[in-house]
Amino acid sequence: MPDTQAVREHLLVKRAELEERVQRIDADLRRREQPLSADFGEQVTEQENLDALYAIESEGRLELKKVERALERIGRGEYAVCSRCGGPIGSARLAALPYADTCIACAD
Ligand SMILES: [Zn+2]
Repeated sequence: MPDTQAVREHLLVKRAELEERVQRIDADLRRREQPLSADFGEQVTEQENLDALYAIESEGRLELKKVERALERIGRGEYAVCSRCGGPIGSARLAALPYADTCIACAD
């Protein structure tokens, strides 16, 4: 049985970090959603920067969802229980993948 209290604390810190990161990117994106510069070369660079920011943002949101799901599972006492077969998720797997919600056998 993993130490869910420690995991929970770790996930809460992680969630705060992710929320801050996503908010910072959102603010940055809002600032940049202004008319692109006239210079075509600069336009391309700006668009590439925007694309990169959107990618980082959606990655952050995805991870945030995983963290929140893991926190809910801890709250229900289901953290180390496979969501598919109901069997235990090994602690080595959870150590490597703190958001894992399936056992190794169900992962594929
Ligand atoms: Zn399973």
